[in-house]
This record gives sequence, C-alpha cells and structure tokens, in this order.
Amino acid sequence: MMGLMPRAAAAAVCLLPLLLLMGCDKKADTPANGGGTTAKPADAQTAKPGDAKPTAEAAPQSPDQAAKSAASAAATKANLQKAFDTESAEAALYQAYATKADQEGLPQAARLCRGAAGSEQVLLKLLGAELTKSGQTAPSAAASTPVVKTTAENLKAALATDTLIAERDYSRYLQQVEGGSDNAAITAFKYAMSDHEVDAQLIRVVSDRLATAKTLDGRLFLCPTCGLLVTDADIATCPSCFTAFAKFTEVH
Ligand SMILES: [Zn+2]
Repeated sequence: MMGLMPRAAAAAVCLLPLLLLMGCDKKADTPANGGGTTAKPADAQTAKPGDAKPTAEAAPQSPDQAAKSAASAAATKANLQKAFDTESAEAALYQAYATKADQEGLPQAARLCRGAAGSEQVLLKLLGAELTKSGQTAPSAAASTPVVKTTAENLKAALATDTLIAERDYSRYLQQVEGGSDNAAITAFKYAMSDHEVDAQLIRVVSDRLATAKTLDGRLFLCPTCGLLVTDADIATCPSCFTAFAKFTEVH
C-alpha cells in the first residue's frame, strides 16, 4: 500500500502553481476553534476505496491475537464514528463560511469554503459506508449552530481546525487501525488526512491574500473519490487516489 507521505507530498505538488502564484508564506498554527453544527445522515452511496481488502486471514488466531483484533475493530468503529461526527460539523461549518464570504464580497474565499465543504461531503460518504459496513446505522450528531465570524476569522479558525484534525485525529486513527485487516477504513482515514492537509495549505494561501487585500486567483477542482482539492488543471489523475482528472468537478 502506498504510504501517506508520498501521497500528501504528491498532493502538495499540485498546489505549487497556486502557492507560487500567490506567494504563500507559512505561519504558525493557531489554537483550534472547532465549530458545531447540524449533522447530516450518512449517504448510503458505496465508497470506492483504492485499497480494497482482497482476502480474509486464513491462519487461526491465538486467544491473545483474537483479543487484539477485537480491540482493534472496536477502536476503528469508534474512530469512524468520531470522524463522521467531525466531518459532519466541518461540512456545515464550511458551507456557513462560504455564505459569509459571499456576503462580504470575497468570492474566492467563498469558493474555497465551498470546495472544502464538498471535500467533507465526499469523506462523509466514505466514512458513512464504512460505518454501515461495521453494522452501525447512519449516525446523527447533536445539532448545534455553526460559529460564524468574519471571513478572515473563519479562515483562521478553519486553518487551525484542519491542521489539528489531520495531525492529531487522523494520525491517531491511522496508528490504531494500521496493521489490522480493515483496509477500507485505513484508506478512508488516509484520504481524510490528505484532504485536511491540503485544505489547510489552501486556506493558508487564501488567508494570506486576504490579509494583504490582494486579488485571489486560481481554479479549484474536487476529486469525487477521495475529496482532495487541487488547483492544477493539467494533472492526469488524482495524486491521492488516482481517479482520472476528467472525473473531477470544478468548484465555482
Ligand atoms: Zn482522489
């Protein structure tokens, strides 16, 4: 299976044109500012994980191994639920951010937020399918109202949250599931981690441009399989899941 870092690095390469165009500079991350929202039920659409599990293990397990497997499966199921709740909140939050950016006359920031919301929706389908497979009904998180401030503040909060989700949550979920047999869950977590890393990079760029009041440029495309956002229209396939670029949708 392909490692995460090459995948994330490849995704970052696709950002280069935009990063160069916009003169991105890195800033220290700020504390997370999560935002609650109304969750949507899982879409029942079947996911297409790139790393499908071919066969079950044939060798008999020792009681110790069986106990470890059961614990790993339980942890994965719990993590899938947590991830689903997080992505539900993020999807509605980004949608609210997009509306706010439109109101402020910041169409490019609005487009990025719509793209991020679209990315979350793809992840929700993947995670929802995994939860359904594990015998869980479509989850519904507690309803709350998204916290929406100015677009500059929203993007700052989103940057912190996306970074935290990738570096803390998905990193931990992957540690707990890797080495196990649930390859579809591993794939979903890896896609989610890459998506959030790339979202954070894009948000950083747009935030910097807002701070200097310069015009924002660049097109934005969404991978329908893994939710990755890319700014390069010249790629042949998704750098994360290898879906043909022809299947991508442009975010407007
Ligand atoms: Zn993809």
